Amino acid sequence: MNPNYLQTPIAYLKGVGPSRAQTLQSELGVYTYQDLLNLFPNRYLDKTQYYKISQLQRNSAEVQVIGKIIHLKEVGQKRGKRLVATFVDDTGKMELVWFRGQKWIKENIKLNVPYVIYGKTNWFNGTFSMPHPEMELLEDHKNGLKVSMQPIYPSSEKLTNKGITNKVTSKLLQQLFIDTKAQFAETLPVYLLKELKLIGKSDALLNIHFPKSQQDLAKAQFRLKFEELFYIQLQLIAKKMVRKNKIKGFPFNAVGTYFSDFYNNYLPFELTNAQKRVVKEIRADLGSNAQMNRLLQGDVGSGKTIVALMTMLLALDNGFQACLMAPTEILATQHYNGITELLQGLKIKVSLLTGSVKKSARRIIHEELESGELHILIGTHALLEDKVQYKNLGLAIIDEQHRFGVAQRAKLWRKNTMPPHILVMTATPIPRTLAMSLYGDLDISVIDELPPGRKPIKTVHRFDANRLKVFRFLKDEINIGRQVYVVYPLIKESEALDYKDLMDGYESIARDFPAPKYQISIVHGQMKPDDKEFEMQRFIKGETQIMVATTVIEVGVNVPNASVMIIESAERFGLSQLHQLRGRVGRGADQSYCILMTGHKLSEDAKTRLETMVRTNDGFEIAEVDLKLRGPGDIMGTQQSGVLNLKIADIVKDNDILQTARHYAIKILKEDPSLSHPNNNVVSQAYAQLVKHKNIWTYIS
Ligand code: ADP
Ligand code: MG
Repeated sequence: MNPNYLQTPIAYLKGVGPSRAQTLQSELGVYTYQDLLNLFPNRYLDKTQYYKISQLQRNSAEVQVIGKIIHLKEVGQKRGKRLVATFVDDTGKMELVWFRGQKWIKENIKLNVPYVIYGKTNWFNGTFSMPHPEMELLEDHKNGLKVSMQPIYPSSEKLTNKGITNKVTSKLLQQLFIDTKAQFAETLPVYLLKELKLIGKSDALLNIHFPKSQQDLAKAQFRLKFEELFYIQLQLIAKKMVRKNKIKGFPFNAVGTYFSDFYNNYLPFELTNAQKRVVKEIRADLGSNAQMNRLLQGDVGSGKTIVALMTMLLALDNGFQACLMAPTEILATQHYNGITELLQGLKIKVSLLTGSVKKSARRIIHEELESGELHILIGTHALLEDKVQYKNLGLAIIDEQHRFGVAQRAKLWRKNTMPPHILVMTATPIPRTLAMSLYGDLDISVIDELPPGRKPIKTVHRFDANRLKVFRFLKDEINIGRQVYVVYPLIKESEALDYKDLMDGYESIARDFPAPKYQISIVHGQMKPDDKEFEMQRFIKGETQIMVATTVIEVGVNVPNASVMIIESAERFGLSQLHQLRGRVGRGADQSYCILMTGHKLSEDAKTRLETMVRTNDGFEIAEVDLKLRGPGDIMGTQQSGVLNLKIADIVKDNDILQTARHYAIKILKEDPSLSHPNNNVVSQAYAQLVKHKNIWTYIS
């Protein structure tokens, strides 16, 4: 077969044509034969397996069960009327439910006779139920044709309207297998196939689309998942090697007066061991000739800012400028205030650049930046504007990195002829597996220790009905001089609704906490930056005791005297957000509290989130649960990364395969960095294809 055959536009496949081709492109991203081949089924209807009732799992796909109906009754009235059958096997019982066609069922169903049923189950009130099952008498079933596993492909309304049903997709694939005689070029080296007992590419593709058994399918899935993860890791690791070998960075050899002076005379506390270790790791990076590209992970409150500051001082000591970018104006301002305070007494010029800085002030910043008069620039996305040009930017730090996309990181790179050293910081701990896939090209430092004297935050879950008690507790805390946050959800789609919730909440708090004894600040996204800042400052200075806010205060805000965080409608927040919000308290020496308020109606996932929050303060543990609940797709800006647009593997569930793939990718690149050994021919070819088509290299050059 011509090696380019699979690059043929999909329109040419028998049964497609120009109109369907367009739909396949827009709906499924299928442009070529190759793309169709790589359109893997989402799942399979498996009628080769029989389940016992005791084996049923919540949230599983369709299942097939053998058993008998022992009882049939009508429940509900009028529109809610339904027919419910009690269905049993030797391991337990479940319910079958019909909302329509009840008359026919009643007349035709046989009690106490073995049936084979097939369908999707629901879990409700402690029993499984199957609405509208497919049913067949066991006897007929035995005499009938053996059906194998039916693949179910991704689908959409548009596809169905164009006649591209699941059956048609399957047919198209059959056509492709006929045209190609089911022979496809191998993409993994023979020695890997042998060592890992992987099946060949052609077998894998055949069995992923037309499996005859669970075993065949499992082998095909394993092989294709491995291949996918292997090539991702190969790209990430190659990228890291290229960077370490080829991308020169400014060597920061000197530890000069700024750093030493600050360390000896101005550091307000002793660094924790973890902070010391991380500073060392960073210094080693900066002293080498390669560009630093490091991710600094540390739970909320672990003290990343001081590490960032000391890194910037190293840049200054070596004659370079540094910048620090934060995702929100509040956070940037707070960094600016905190850092200028820490640097008082040192001759260092620091400026703040955000969207709301006036034109005239902005011009001065631009000028001082270009002349080199300005040493450190702190700000928001505004730092990325083309007008912002440095004399010699040597270091760029990005705080709360998950809020920014890869493209934005890349923009900072280009602020110089030689790329500056990059330190990205995140308080949302990234599970190891995800870190490896997302940031496999970065070096990672972890601050896994909190500054001394912190008491773990006590977290409780309370229902709205207990609000009065909660308010009483707040009064007690305020009376002993503490401050409290009350946070409301803010989710884009329903901003108007959220705004109303916030205002209603504010009014009810204002009633229960009357002025002048109590003073309340309010901060939300629809306020002008100046007003926000004004209200923030009142709270920071202790002029107000209560801060009513939306999640704008989520990241980074630091008011050590605040000891209570109340999160309203806590069930609407994701885990990492809850953890971030909780991190706003527990910053001083006092015992702090986080109170999660909800109504009584909670989904299973919401319950898990709340339980997790109550159980642990450990950000890494929380991140693991979050990853399991949500899957990697939703977690911190992974969407933009593209690295996670996996076709078949799942970073969470296939962690073992990922580790193996990474292991072999490293081994191969170490032994044969240019992939020029004949044994690695297929690797280098497949790799070249990938680089040509995907290009995850964009932010290197
Ligand atoms: P985060 O890692 O969440 O950005 P911050 O850098 O804001 O944390 O630090 C949280 C608080 O802890 C700040 O008030 C900071 O001054 C303080 N802090 C940081 N490091 C130490 C330390 N080694 N000892 C005592 N306090 C510290
Ligand atoms: Mg921070």
